[in-house]
Amino acid sequence: MRITILGTRGEIDQTAPYHSRHSGILIDGSLMVDLGEREFLDRKPKAVLITHLHPDHAYFVRAGAERPPAGVPLFAPEVYKDYGVTVLDRPETIAGYSVRPVPSQHSLKVRSQAYLVAHGSMKILYTGDLVWINKEFHSLFEGLDLVITEASYFRKGGLIIRDKTTGQIYGHTGLPDLVRLFKAHCRRIVLVHFGGWFYKDIPRARAAIRELGRANGVVLEAGRDDQEIVL
Ligand SMILES: [Zn+2]
Ligand SMILES: [Zn+2]
Repeated sequence: MRITILGTRGEIDQTAPYHSRHSGILIDGSLMVDLGEREFLDRKPKAVLITHLHPDHAYFVRAGAERPPAGVPLFAPEVYKDYGVTVLDRPETIAGYSVRPVPSQHSLKVRSQAYLVAHGSMKILYTGDLVWINKEFHSLFEGLDLVITEASYFRKGGLIIRDKTTGQIYGHTGLPDLVRLFKAHCRRIVLVHFGGWFYKDIPRARAAIRELGRANGVVLEAGRDDQEIVL
């Protein structure tokens, strides 16, 4: 599997070289996951899986954005207007990959899911934005070769808010929590979707990320736009 990290910037104003584009990865030049920028479609993916309909993961929901061109199969946890988005709520073979959506907690307004993508003997997980993934799904993570997850917040606990009326939680968990979630299942975690903390001092942030990984016995690394990972 050859994975291209297309973008590593969260939904923030800051930008920096190698960290300027919103979320997306491309697997073997063929299967895309998340579509944070319209320009990602220039790579002509055979299909696009979308974790959730926030604009930094699905550019076409941003106010004023043009609708996606016809002919690219788009899969997401829910439909969007009459844009031809297919709801993916069960395992399916897409563009030759076994794809399994894994329900996640992130937002009150949109549904969200991570994606397990397997091909040959390789299996990866791309999470999108996360408060958490419920325990009932953790057994699916066994034998993962790579996790690509978000890094909105470095601090433990991240920023999680509880809705006063419904009691539901939303937001983003912190990196120590994500490492705790995945370290039992995977030795290598690549971070994308950086929050403002990362942009204040990028070399220092990268070092802090590596150190957090070392302390937990995993390889934890900061991804960058256009990075290629070969598994
Ligand atoms: Zn989001
Ligand atoms: Zn996001």
